[in-house]
Amino acid sequence: MRRREGGSSLSELSEEWATSARVSTASPAPVARPCPPRLALASNDRRQKGDRLSRDVWDKVREFRAADEARAQGLYPYFRAFERNDGPEAVVDGRQVIMFGSNNYLGLTTHPKVREAASDAIRSLGTSMTGSRFVNGTTQLHHDLEERLADFYGREAALVFTTGYQVNLAVCSALLRDGDVALIDRGVHASTYDGVRLAMAHGARMVRFGHNSAESLDMHLSRLEEGDEGALVIIDGVFSAEGEIAKLDELLSIVRQHGARIMVDDAHGLGMVGPAGKGTAHHHGLGAEVDLIGGTFSKSLASVGGYLVGERAVIDYIRHHAASFMFAASGAPSTVAAAMAALEVMQEEGWRVDSLRENADYMIRELVSLGFEVGPTQTAIVPIYIRDDARTLAVWRELFEEHAIYTNPFVSFSVSPGHSLIRTSYMATHERAHLDRGLEALAIVGKKYGLI
Ligand code: PMP
Repeated sequence: MRRREGGSSLSELSEEWATSARVSTASPAPVARPCPPRLALASNDRRQKGDRLSRDVWDKVREFRAADEARAQGLYPYFRAFERNDGPEAVVDGRQVIMFGSNNYLGLTTHPKVREAASDAIRSLGTSMTGSRFVNGTTQLHHDLEERLADFYGREAALVFTTGYQVNLAVCSALLRDGDVALIDRGVHASTYDGVRLAMAHGARMVRFGHNSAESLDMHLSRLEEGDEGALVIIDGVFSAEGEIAKLDELLSIVRQHGARIMVDDAHGLGMVGPAGKGTAHHHGLGAEVDLIGGTFSKSLASVGGYLVGERAVIDYIRHHAASFMFAASGAPSTVAAAMAALEVMQEEGWRVDSLRENADYMIRELVSLGFEVGPTQTAIVPIYIRDDARTLAVWRELFEEHAIYTNPFVSFSVSPGHSLIRTSYMATHERAHLDRGLEALAIVGKKYGLI
């Protein structure tokens, strides 16, 4: 990555982050650079201080001004303290808001059965296992949840992780090494990029293919046929900023033609799409075909943690080879119990998945008819594209401060420059009155900022 002189302003930093953390442009990708972009930050030219060579790794810290600049302008939206965040309404910084910015898609974080399961687990097993799954952090609850997840997906085996982030680190670092290639959709989550970077340290290569493009994937896989590299394709099932569902049917057929393997990170797909909320693979009728499905408990399942399901031998291999699984403390019993209860409630109370879908359809329809650009979303993640960082932050502030609507601004820290957006997301438990109040506010702010 090109070094920029003179410190990191908001826009400069944005560009750096977008390149190194996550890139979601739709254009076909060339074969990626052989080293992770962020490593370029440590190049020697940054250390040249006048005539002296600075060895101080704190230099970059002193040059980081983006957050202070945004704070000074009253535009800093991050790390707000929530006093309550348990449903369609929340209290943030003392302000009661309508929540259009949560991943509590099914509204289960306060469900009595989920609360009770977490409390019971604390009462019987304490607050933490203080050790890794591998040696002293596994409980029967962990095993039970693995069994339930394998059953739910109709697959041989499952593995429960401490976070979803660690799932992607684990898959890539355990399965890919010298002679292997990770082919990732350009728009995958930062955790997959980090996982691939770990694999690159073992000699694997990274190739980014065009977003949701079977044609681009085919082209890149065809190029590999000259050699004998192993290939793992990794995609998100539902893209976390865009709300778009992966074209898994098209991609899978290309994967099979080339004898590659595929993993779907369905962090946002579970509860959101597919029959009974089973996710992206089932949405496409391909539940039994996808090699690995990963996910998180931190969204529809109202907890914290991650999971992976697939063939028993592959799951067992990862269990014994992935550092992010083996050498991190296990998920606390309460988080595992909460996820298990939420999975049960999701199946018992099918209306939640239906209601989430109705709310999503309503908001997409209304926002489009107001004239907002929402992109190709088909889910309860509905982005409002603004495409300019400063304007996005201003819209975010106005919605929050003037209209008590809480949304999430995605500027170039998390999306590529020119793709900034306000991410709105909905819950099964939003009532029509919440949605309509939000639409009214969005219409006022949208007109004021020239979005509609
Ligand atoms: N994958 C995707 C697509 C995500 O959006 C996230 C979290 N936002 C993760 C993985 C990581 O999951 P977790 O929060 O459980 O670490």
